Amino acid sequence: MAVTEDQVRDALRRVKGPDLKSNIVDLDLVSEILVKDGRVYFSITIPASRAEELEPLRQAAAKVVSDLDGVDGATAVLTAERQETGGSGIGQPAAAAPPRAEHPRVTAARQQGAAPAAARQAPPAAANAGQAPSNGIPGVKHLIAVASGKGGVGKSTTAVNLALGLKANGLNVGILDADIYGPSQPRLLGLAGRPKQGDDGKIQPMVGYGLKTMSMGFMVEEGTPIIWRGPMVVSALNQMLREVTWGELDAIIIDMPPGTGDVQLTMAQQVPLSGAVIVSTPQDLALIDARKGLAMFQRVDVPVLGIVENMSFFLCPKCGERSDIFGHGGAEKEAETLDVPFLGGVPLDMEIRATSDEGQPIVATQPDSAHSKVYCEIARRVWAECEAAAGQLVPPTLALSASGDELTVTFEDGTSHKFSAEALRVMSPSAEVQGHSPSQRVTVPGKRSVTIRDMKPVGSYAVRLSFSDGHNTGLFSWDYFRELGAEIDERWASYLAELADKGLSRD
Ligand code: ADP
Repeated sequence: MAVTEDQVRDALRRVKGPDLKSNIVDLDLVSEILVKDGRVYFSITIPASRAEELEPLRQAAAKVVSDLDGVDGATAVLTAERQETGGSGIGQPAAAAPPRAEHPRVTAARQQGAAPAAARQAPPAAANAGQAPSNGIPGVKHLIAVASGKGGVGKSTTAVNLALGLKANGLNVGILDADIYGPSQPRLLGLAGRPKQGDDGKIQPMVGYGLKTMSMGFMVEEGTPIIWRGPMVVSALNQMLREVTWGELDAIIIDMPPGTGDVQLTMAQQVPLSGAVIVSTPQDLALIDARKGLAMFQRVDVPVLGIVENMSFFLCPKCGERSDIFGHGGAEKEAETLDVPFLGGVPLDMEIRATSDEGQPIVATQPDSAHSKVYCEIARRVWAECEAAAGQLVPPTLALSASGDELTVTFEDGTSHKFSAEALRVMSPSAEVQGHSPSQRVTVPGKRSVTIRDMKPVGSYAVRLSFSDGHNTGLFSWDYFRELGAEIDERWASYLAELADKGLSRD
């Protein structure tokens, strides 16, 4: 069982602070706690002048945490508070470097990320909450954050495949790995080395599978724990956004650090985001964390484009049978309750894991696989939500006939399509009809007299149709209506041919 942040915090209550009276947790000296792959990272804020004297305190704190069940190791770092402000914790201006010896590349990263004097004076994150970011990145249409309430839910895997899905949909995309705690995009995209500097002094992004990529991981070694202070993070992030030759891009996907602490809040607030995508696993706990993520973006007025449920269900690679090992559907229900779009569910699958871990993301290397299609569909929805949030997408008008047997879809550009309820039912985009691979697609007979009973909007990108036979799992996106509209005659003819072939009837 992995240790929880609360268990770590409880253990740290046994460590007395510099005053030798209260403990370091109650004195509010412990930063946010990060638990990743059995290792625990945290920092303890102390006055700069007492760094050496308080080394035993650091050791004691690391020891109580590494002695906990489920912990493979603990990294405690002393960070110095700025004496004149008496501030504490992440998000406050950091004047002195941590007193621990550090790797030269870490030092280089810190220097690259060191805040200009003006930025260092920025007030703590929460004081600015609610201010909308105004200064965009020239040439870049949208910055989209991919975030999660906690680590290990597949945020980075989703981010890279989402970026590749947007690219597969014909967009120009970059990815910025801002996961300062565990930058993994270089590994996911199979990139190594350091980006070059152009003659203009700007950094040239590396390119992986056609994605322009910048990562904290190009500057620090993977697995090197660093405790970042708020202003330093924002300045490093701004540098990666503004001092990199991104060129003309439709979107940059930002792989955010997991969690909802001050560092994440500062990022969400100070980077001019068009919107955020929250990744969650179906387990309740992750959903509670996801809700915190949602609240964080709402607090700083960043539109939440929706929730992606990762490791949503298990598809047996041999028989194609689907098992809902974690109680699938939690994220979708939660999204409905919270009134944010549900963007889709990604199955738990060895191929996704293997391709990620080998630096060969599935959308780039197996573009025709069922999983890639899932990611591309999620990407389409994200894009529609993003355009809608920016006021650049107008949903079509839907007109249902009085008896519910015909739906007319009219787009803003005047294109209009009439669909019979029967055609929509038998061509429903739901997995029930489409299967998870072309070989699993089913021919649905006997729907001649079916009608549409109800239509529920799903985010800004789709509508959920409920049919009189009880079928209601098809999400009809605007794109799907367009595609269907353009091909309805051919598709209807091949449906009739399939019925005849299989000896089935419309009645
Ligand atoms: P996070 O960024 O949330 O920490 P990662 O994207 O690094 O998570 O994923 C954690 C691990 O889970 C990785 O080994 C990754 O390959 C694996 N993983 C992520 N999504 C899936 C999935 N849908 N199916 C199988 N493995 C997955």
